[in-house]
Amino acid sequence: MKLALVGIGKIARDQHVPAIAASPDWDLAATVSRHGAVDGVEAYDDFDRMLEERADIRVVSLCLPPVPRFDYAARAIRAGRHVMLEKPPGATLSECHALERMARDMRVSLYATWHSREADMVQAAKAWLAGKHLKTLVITWKEDVRRWHPGQEWIWEPGGLGVFDPGINALSILTEIVAEPMHVTAARLDVPANRQTPIAAELAFHHPTARATMVLDWRQEGDQTWEIRAETDGGTLQLLDGGARMIVDGAETGEAAPLGGEYPRLYARMKTLLNTGGIDMDLAPMRHVADAFTLGRRETVAPFDW
Ligand code: NAP
Repeated sequence: MKLALVGIGKIARDQHVPAIAASPDWDLAATVSRHGAVDGVEAYDDFDRMLEERADIRVVSLCLPPVPRFDYAARAIRAGRHVMLEKPPGATLSECHALERMARDMRVSLYATWHSREADMVQAAKAWLAGKHLKTLVITWKEDVRRWHPGQEWIWEPGGLGVFDPGINALSILTEIVAEPMHVTAARLDVPANRQTPIAAELAFHHPTARATMVLDWRQEGDQTWEIRAETDGGTLQLLDGGARMIVDGAETGEAAPLGGEYPRLYARMKTLLNTGGIDMDLAPMRHVADAFTLGRRETVAPFDW
C-alpha cells in the first residue's frame, strides 16, 4: 500500500521511515514537509498539492506536533484518505471527536496510535494483572527533556503538553493494562516561569481498590526512569523502560510480543484497520491529561532554557 508521511522531523526519521522500509506491506510513496525529505522519495512541501496529484496514495501518516495536526488530518479525510495520527491524536478532545465523525462520514479508516502500548511487555503485563486485586499503583516517568526533545519549542507552547508529551505514553500503557475505570482526582503542575506547559507534575487517581499515583519530571539527568509498579494480592509487577521489560516479584519475566518493535506493530495494526474499514480512536490517555490540566494546581518553578 502506498503511503505519504507528513512532517519529516524527529519521530518520522527515528521510527516511521525505518518501520515502513522494513515492512513488505507499505511503500513510502511521498513525503510532505516544509523543510524535511527522505532520500529517494518524492518530496512535497504543499499538502494539498500532494493530495491532488497523488490520487494513488490512499493512506496518510501524520507525524506533526499535535497543534497543527488537526488541520492536516481534516484535509486528508475530506480528500478521502485513510489517516494515521501520531500521539497525542490532537491538541484537544473535541478536535479528535470531530475527526472521528468526519472519518465515519467519509467512510475512511482513522487510527489514533499509541506507540507505547505496542512496547514488548505491555500485553504480558496486562495478562499478568488480569483478575488480580490491585493494591497500589505508582507511575514514575522521569527523563531529561534536553536529551529527548532538543530545541523543540512546540512542547512549551499551549497544546504542546509539556512533560505530558512523554507522560501520555505512560497513560496509554495504564489505560491498556488496568481493566478497572480510573479517573484523576488531583494534580499539581510545575510550570517554568517563562513557559506555558509543565516541566513536572504529580497526579492522584481514583481506582476502585488501589491507591494510584503518577510522578512526571523532565529534569532527570543520568539514568532515565519509565516505570509502572503495581502491587497486587498476587505479587508485585514492575513494567520498566517504557514497557520494554517486565519484572514480577524481583524476577525478569514475560515473553516479547511478536513483530518486534513498537512502530512495526502500529503499521501492522493500520493495515488491519484498512482491511476491515475500521476506526481506532481510543482517547482514554488524552482524557486523563485533559483532566489533569483542568484540575491541576499550577505552581511556578524556575525558568527553563535549553
Ligand atoms: P518535531 O521533530 O519537532 O516535528 C515534526 C515535524 O513537524 C517537523 O519536522 C516539521 O516539519 C513539522 N512541523 C512542526 N511544526 C509544524 C507546523 N506548525 N505546521 C506544519 N508542520 C510543522 O517533532 P517530533 O519529535 O517528530 O514529534 C512529532 C509528534 O510525534 C509529536 O506529537 C510527538 O509527541 C510524537 N512522538 C515523538 C517522539 C520523539 O521521540 N520525538 C516519540 C514518539 C512520538 P517541517 O518544518 O519540515 O514542515
